[in-house]
Amino acid sequence: LDFDRIQQVRQNFPILHELVHGDLPLVYLDSAATSQKPKCVVDKIVEAYEKYNSNVHRGIHALGDRMTTEMESAREKIARFIGASTAEQVIFTSGTTMSVNLVAHGWAARHLRPGDEILLNEMEHHANFVPWQMAAQASGATLRFLPLTVDWQLDLSRLDEFINSKTRLVAVAGMSNVTGTIHDVSRIADAAHAVGARVFVDAAQSAAHGLTNVQTGNIDFLAFSGHKLLGPTGLGILYGKPDALGEIQPVFGGGHMIREVTKSGSTWADLPARLEAGTAAFVECAGMGAAIDYLESIGMESLARYEHSLLELAHARLSQIPGLTIFGPEVAHKGAIVSMVHEQIHAHDLADLLDRQGVAIRAGHHCTMPLHELFGVAATARASFAFYNTPDEVEKLASAIEKAIEVFQRRSHRRANRSL
Ligand code: PMP
Repeated sequence: LDFDRIQQVRQNFPILHELVHGDLPLVYLDSAATSQKPKCVVDKIVEAYEKYNSNVHRGIHALGDRMTTEMESAREKIARFIGASTAEQVIFTSGTTMSVNLVAHGWAARHLRPGDEILLNEMEHHANFVPWQMAAQASGATLRFLPLTVDWQLDLSRLDEFINSKTRLVAVAGMSNVTGTIHDVSRIADAAHAVGARVFVDAAQSAAHGLTNVQTGNIDFLAFSGHKLLGPTGLGILYGKPDALGEIQPVFGGGHMIREVTKSGSTWADLPARLEAGTAAFVECAGMGAAIDYLESIGMESLARYEHSLLELAHARLSQIPGLTIFGPEVAHKGAIVSMVHEQIHAHDLADLLDRQGVAIRAGHHCTMPLHELFGVAATARASFAFYNTPDEVEKLASAIEKAIEVFQRRSHRRANRSL
């Protein structure tokens, strides 16, 4: 992706031309929280509501057929996008969180026994952490934690110690939402499969950076959210190998997921319907289909390469700012996220001082409290990049941080002088 192409891409995202606080151009560096949407996705959603909104599957009329076709074609596009061999392996949920919970409550909680082990690590998002704690509690299984290296990677040299005949599941992110660390999912999957354990990949971050292929990774379960991948909110994906999905018991009962209902009991429909109780987010699915088309028109490989060049630039520039520490491995091992602290300024104050300059980043624990406990800080300031960002915006981030530090130090001097 060259400069001209990025300028064209930016024209597809109306929000990037908004002004904030009255007259400041927006510098949106919070795509890890949610991505912005290209106009074709918004247009698709409007088109669906204006032209063929109708409940799917059940309607035996033209609009119902059209909406069903749109939804099922999105399922096929998503399957192709992640390398799944059939569309039936793609379950629609409401988000990554719900996908994890479906496997945790429908599979792990019912499948695991006391003595069984689930392997996690302290870098995971709460969405890929808390549901496994719940499943362990419900089943009597034990949680274990693969140690991290000093440069915030998983210590894969210790895999043999932590994966053994008792391991039934290894849950891991494709890419950390804080350090940006990209995990070697296929190596982890090989180790897990060698002892007959399943692998669950939280692809909430990795999917947007072209890092998700369920075949090359040999992944059993995989989850991600539409809203981080140019799509609408309220839509998530759970992928599973057919036998793995087959082992999930429905957690939610209701319409669409049944074969037959009588007063004395019910039987379940085939996949994917069996795990999709109730009316699906069918308009959002149509929007997601448009998002996948758009991503493929750019090309995930060139998009990822471009984002990485932004990350390299950001690391080079930010690491020269005195007092700033970046938590994460070298850029070769990470995706386009930079989480940092300044030695004097609280992360929330830094984010606030940046916001006043039009630069949108996020501060907090980013739903990774165990990781922040290891960092030894309660909060970090996180800038995250997408392919619609520019080198100029990276420079604006760096100079906005320098300005924030200056403002903060001037203020503290004034306060110190007053108290003398
Ligand atoms: N896992 C990771 C790594 C994430 O970054 C996020 C979103 N911050 C989630 C899970 C949860 O996604 P959602 O809130 O869309 O369910």
